[in-house]
Amino acid sequence: MTDAPAPLRLFNSLTRSLEEFQPVHSGEARVYSCGPTVYNFQHIGNMRAYVFADTLGRTLAFKGYALRHIINITDVGHLTSDSDAGDDKMEKAAASQGKTAWDIAAFYTAEFKRDLSWLNVRDPAKWTVATDYVPRMIDFAKSIASRHCYELDSGLYFDVSTVADYGRLARAVTDDGEGRIEEVEGKRHAADFAIWRKTPDGETRQMEWDSPWGRGAPGWHLECSVMGEAELGMPFDIHTGGIDHREIHHPNEIAQNQAYRGCGSLDCAEHSGARMWMHNNFLIDRGGKMSKSTGEFLRLQLLVDRGYHPLAYRLMCLQAHYRSELEFSWDGLGAALTRLKRLVMAAAPTREAETAELTDRRLVDLLAKFDAAISDDLNTAVALTLIEEAVALKKIDAGQKRAALAVMDDVLGLQLLTLSRADLRVRPKAATIGEDDIEATLARRKEARAARDFAASDTLRDELVAAGVEVMDGDPLGWDWRLAN
Ligand code: AMP
Ligand code: ZN
Repeated sequence: MTDAPAPLRLFNSLTRSLEEFQPVHSGEARVYSCGPTVYNFQHIGNMRAYVFADTLGRTLAFKGYALRHIINITDVGHLTSDSDAGDDKMEKAAASQGKTAWDIAAFYTAEFKRDLSWLNVRDPAKWTVATDYVPRMIDFAKSIASRHCYELDSGLYFDVSTVADYGRLARAVTDDGEGRIEEVEGKRHAADFAIWRKTPDGETRQMEWDSPWGRGAPGWHLECSVMGEAELGMPFDIHTGGIDHREIHHPNEIAQNQAYRGCGSLDCAEHSGARMWMHNNFLIDRGGKMSKSTGEFLRLQLLVDRGYHPLAYRLMCLQAHYRSELEFSWDGLGAALTRLKRLVMAAAPTREAETAELTDRRLVDLLAKFDAAISDDLNTAVALTLIEEAVALKKIDAGQKRAALAVMDDVLGLQLLTLSRADLRVRPKAATIGEDDIEATLARRKEARAARDFAASDTLRDELVAAGVEVMDGDPLGWDWRLAN
């Protein structure tokens, strides 16, 4: 490329402004993403958070930074309520399923990782598992306890008045806002939070450790501060999560980081532990924010069971800006699948071509526009239209086209150069008819039509429709049939 690369500008939730990315360590990008609490399956809303973090990581790599990305697995300490009351989500799931908390964690971690691979989310440099870091958490807590914490019967609490600018990151700070309710008796301020939770006398938890504040378990916020510091050093570059974390979890992490590092005002963003805090908005459905508390919820597996390729969901996410709410609908997902099919089919002819050096002005210009779009706070919606423009270019060297598509697809992660028509034809779970039967019936129908026996042709078509097959005569992409979802 001859054009100068666009500066990478990202929205920092802490300063509430777009900022040019300037790495803490030259040439590197160190990113920490809050990972799942592995007490249940993740819903597709949760997966939006990882598609966003992955797109950010891919963009940083595209911009030439050596990426070190950490995602944590929370396998202890996350309570059913944000106000330090309630059960540990892991212990509760273990009790209700008659399994150990360790088994629950292993099972849901594996399910989560499978969903990520289906979405072509790349593995982080390291998965940090909270229970592996408990001794470090105790050391961290010890170092801040005397100046910033106080003990109650139920554990060690962080006094939020001991750090400057507590809660600056949050947007929804109100006296009676979510999670601000004082549920633990004796707290000095409603927003004070548990660093260490003591196991109540006479009880035992499946997951508990000895500490200077009694046998118990770490607070959820402590975990991320400690794992971020241990793996990336502080300050690191970017901390990510969904916008719900902007309100409580991340302000609390920030307060701990300030305490640990003896830092002052958040006017200097680095005092928070990271230079930038980035948050993806929610995926919602008609009923509002997605939640796991209601029996059945939308999982990636359900989309696949209905015949949608998981990358159609990735594309659906990329069509919206990560800071906008995105409403899920089956129609929307269907449209995203069609768009993905078009892209894959249009890219197919370049697949076999030998990658060639990019000299064609049209491709060079498109790549420059692509760079500008993705560098503009990850404008994936525009980036998608540019990859479509590139795919549609006619009378162009196939090797160069392939090279340009590969660069763009490395950022968007849609596997355009490897997915096949067969991959995209995901079989709905409820389907009863096999592919061979469909092809055989369609062949008979073709013969009937050739013989102008339209009655027979219609009968065969009706048979297919009754078996859940949609016959797509004249489909511009040559997609003869699909199984109805
Ligand atoms: P959790 O397992 O609840 O800690 O959530 C994992 C990640 O998903 C966090 O970054 C959350 O902020 C994010 N998240 C939760 N619900 C949604 C949603 N409906 N849409 C987008 N992100 C979400
Ligand atoms: Zn976290």
